[in-house]
Amino acid sequence: QETTIITNPPRLLYDVSLPRRDKFAYKNTFGHALLLAGSQGKMGAAVLAAGACLRGGVGLLTVAVPGGGYDILQTTRPEAMCLPDKHADYITELPDLAPYQAVGIGPGLGQDAASLAVLRQLLRTAKVPLVLDADALNLLGSHRTLLKLLPPDTVLTPHVGEFARLTEKARDDYHRLELLRTFAREHRCIVVLKGAYTAVADRDGQLYFNTTGNPGMASGGSGDVLTGLLLALRADQRLAPLPAVRLAVLAHGHAADLAVQTTGEAGLVAGDLVAHIGPALRDLT
Ligand code: AMP
Ligand code: MG
Repeated sequence: QETTIITNPPRLLYDVSLPRRDKFAYKNTFGHALLLAGSQGKMGAAVLAAGACLRGGVGLLTVAVPGGGYDILQTTRPEAMCLPDKHADYITELPDLAPYQAVGIGPGLGQDAASLAVLRQLLRTAKVPLVLDADALNLLGSHRTLLKLLPPDTVLTPHVGEFARLTEKARDDYHRLELLRTFAREHRCIVVLKGAYTAVADRDGQLYFNTTGNPGMASGGSGDVLTGLLLALRADQRLAPLPAVRLAVLAHGHAADLAVQTTGEAGLVAGDLVAHIGPALRDLT
């Protein structure tokens, strides 16, 4: 039996906070984010991530969706702008990235070949912070040569299953943490390995553990909410990459801990997390 020693003692996430808004703040400060999300039957993931991004304080949000998702997005999230794809069911074209300060891709995306091409094009051309989740990670996992294209400080948010597809199946929890550190160092990115006690690895392989959140979050859509919140904080021009990620993870769990006081764990749904991001960030300001 191999013994794994974790060098660099892991830290907790607590010493991060959201800066107060300047009295004369303008929306530029908080950035314009682009979210690519949704496919036929999975528009909810796009709506949840968009809601979380808006509640996370983004200055402006544009959501690229399949053509068939246009009405859904515009109706549920009037604060967001919407770019409908020419294809009804999938996103097949990458929008011009010039207006945006951060780009998120993955929730409900599907794994169509055209969406793979969009992801490849995004990785090749993006000059701004990226957040990759869900089907974007599954596409990366099945086309690992794309990992070479990851821009530095890209944020990846796999759960254990998605992480195994990106790397290998871990023998145990310690092995998984070693794989996590190695992966983050090798690809110079920030990896959020989600679960109870989410672990964040930075590009130097330093690990941080999160203690907020509860088992009420073990239901569909929780991860999509984190993606939207991360996108907002990566678009915020006042925050450096790692503090933005640590704050997003901390606040996401805290939102769940606030929500569960009224919903209970069984009754907690992802939309409740979105609704509690505001109070959670207020507590962390
Ligand atoms: P996903 O699997 O992509 O929907 O993401 C689930 C989200 O809920 C992640 O942010 C997890 O960290 C969180 N989560 C799931 N189960 C638990 C749990 N038992 N305790 C705390 N957080 C959890
Ligand atoms: Mg997910």
